[in-house]
Amino acid sequence: MTFAIHATPDLREAEVSAEAPLAWRNRFARLGTAFYTRLQPQPLPDPFWVSRNQALAREMGLDAQWFESSMALEALTGNRTLPGSDPLASVYSGHQFGQWAGQLGDGRAILLGELDLPAGGLEIQLKGAGRTPYSRMGDGRAVLRSSIREYLCSEAMHALGIPTTRALCVTGSDAKVRREEIETTAVVTRTAPSFIRFGHFEHFSYNDQHDELKTLADYVIDNFYPACRDANQPYAALLQAVSERTAHLMAAWQAVGFCHGVMNTDNMSILGLTIDYGPFQFLDAFDPGHICNHSDTEGRYAYNKQPNIAYWNLFCLGQALLPLIGEQEQALAALESYKTVFPAALEARMRAKLGLTDVQPDDKALVESTFKLLASNKVDYTIFWRRLSGFTPQRGHEAVRDLFFDRESFNAWALHYSERLAQVDTGLRADLMLKSNPKYVLRNHVGEQAIRAAKLNDFAGVNTLLAVLQSPFEEHPAHNDLAGFPPDWAASIEISCSS
Ligand code: AMP
Ligand code: MG
Repeated sequence: MTFAIHATPDLREAEVSAEAPLAWRNRFARLGTAFYTRLQPQPLPDPFWVSRNQALAREMGLDAQWFESSMALEALTGNRTLPGSDPLASVYSGHQFGQWAGQLGDGRAILLGELDLPAGGLEIQLKGAGRTPYSRMGDGRAVLRSSIREYLCSEAMHALGIPTTRALCVTGSDAKVRREEIETTAVVTRTAPSFIRFGHFEHFSYNDQHDELKTLADYVIDNFYPACRDANQPYAALLQAVSERTAHLMAAWQAVGFCHGVMNTDNMSILGLTIDYGPFQFLDAFDPGHICNHSDTEGRYAYNKQPNIAYWNLFCLGQALLPLIGEQEQALAALESYKTVFPAALEARMRAKLGLTDVQPDDKALVESTFKLLASNKVDYTIFWRRLSGFTPQRGHEAVRDLFFDRESFNAWALHYSERLAQVDTGLRADLMLKSNPKYVLRNHVGEQAIRAAKLNDFAGVNTLLAVLQSPFEEHPAHNDLAGFPPDWAASIEISCSS
């Protein structure tokens, strides 16, 4: 079945609700009850729309009228069941901050099911729709602040070309929950081909449930990594494929200056997607050791540690898959490619940011010297790259130079860079750089301003930010303020795990 088309514009809501506007196939639900608990979301009183992502709705082929309706509002808050959905919370485990944490699971995420779209399956999950058997001490809810951050950032990442879960909408309610203070709740509707994490594999492996481990691995291979099926050792091939996707993801994060903040193995997607947006941050001033999570006192998840942490997490995945792979050497060999794919992918991304359209042996050294110069001058990362896109060797480059207090070091670097650019076509370079260096990223202070307004029921800022972040490489002259330096108060924003 495809999507219902509502031809009459004045269709009454009762008729809209009579239609099942979505086609479901719910493959994860067919894995069996060892993998999840079926349950219904818990309603929230008087829900209201905070923001709807029309671009994603169109991609999903959602009926536009349905997406405007109170039925959609109720369904996407968890107050009404969508016919054909099969709501469940999945069980997983994981390593948190380097320690085995045992059983976790969807403590506040409820998978409604999987839509059958022309482009493939797409799972829909409500985050913050009530307690589940895996909520532990949690209340199953998410606050408005963190829901807006996840909504905006996942769409920003998607538009930046970085693999990620996506977000269809945020709904709010005046229902209150306690965090550091009392806050109101919200629900984010998020989508991904699959929400399976490294921690799902760890769960069945640590509990010696090897049949379930195999079922899960086969499900992932058959649906998401079909080429692995033809390998001599499909499970080692899966580990290698996940390692490579994760390597590409880390290269993308490092190049754009994104810190995730909580890279626990339960927050690592088996599809190599950015998942579980919590205390994330795009770097303001370039500081390689930057820690964006106020709760991460040891700096385990600092910006410059992310690529190694991803490898550590892949090692955990490899251990979890060992009962299927059999030979430890094969598992270790499958992880090896991370060590070559990550640096190559990072270098390719940095070369594009520098506008280098060809490959030269010294490019690696140029990239390294650029990082070093940015760090020693604490230069604003996003603004530097965007301004560099207008760099012309023949002319003065005040706009870029002004970002550095150590002008001599900058001049030496600029001379070296200009020499390298002599071999590059100027038009091609400018084009490549403007497509590789976003003008807009979701800086903490920019998100914070939209959140403060949203707490007062003014959602215009959220919607404006969404629109701008959906085309981050374009100029938006009316919104230059969203691309400016962080104000002094931005340094005092403390983002912890609390959400
Ligand atoms: P996170 O650090 O957000 O990845 O969460 C770690 C685990 O705690 C996951 O299993 C979450 O589902 C769970 N969790 C976090 N916050 C809540 C909450 N408010 N209610 C229930 N479970 C939660
Ligand atoms: Mg999580």
